[in-house]
Amino acid sequence: MAQTQPCVLVVEDEGAQREVLKYNLEAEGFGVVLAENGDEAMLLIAEEQPDLIVLDWMLPNVSGIEVCRRVKADPVTRQIPIIMLSARSEEVDRVRGLETGADDYVVKPYSVVELMARLRTQLRRTRPASMGERLTFGDIILDAGEHRVFRAGQPLHLGPTEFRLLSTLMEKPGRVWSREQLLDRVWGRDIYVDTRTIDVHVGRLRKALMANGGDNPVRTVRGTGYSLG
Ligand code: CA
Repeated sequence: MAQTQPCVLVVEDEGAQREVLKYNLEAEGFGVVLAENGDEAMLLIAEEQPDLIVLDWMLPNVSGIEVCRRVKADPVTRQIPIIMLSARSEEVDRVRGLETGADDYVVKPYSVVELMARLRTQLRRTRPASMGERLTFGDIILDAGEHRVFRAGQPLHLGPTEFRLLSTLMEKPGRVWSREQLLDRVWGRDIYVDTRTIDVHVGRLRKALMANGGDNPVRTVRGTGYSLG
């Protein structure tokens, strides 16, 4: 399941703080990407499309606030939750006043436990399946915690790849996924899989979902990829 775990980008210029966050995030099972400054952060956001950004407010050159502004101004990245780290509460007030669009703020020195709790709160909203939540789409229920899928009350039998595929689709009903995006999410970025493989697994997923009747909920979007509903 490691491939579907959320990826967190940590933007922090202090090395020791970066390492503490990396250690704790990896211990929670998250993928971690590190940036030392705002420029590096912007590059990594484009390349890695992280699921959440922990962003220090005080950074050299491009400030945290500027990174936040750019992320929230871009339609491609604006849905990525940002948790800002701020050294003093006065700054937090200022951050709030500037309405940068950060999703949450944590004041330094912060407790790692508290930061992790806030991070999970954001991810339950944006990556519910990866956080073990129960998702519903029409008559389909996916219980990520229990690893079970039901349709019209009947349990369905899905292979592990089909389960990850369905949980990815159910996290964002209506979103059109390219084959490459699905491969990154379901198999992981570092693994080479032919894009036609995805078609095979979508076929298996459809078959499993329709095993007891019901319409095909996975739509083929011609020239693009797949979408739920
Ligand atoms: Ca700093």
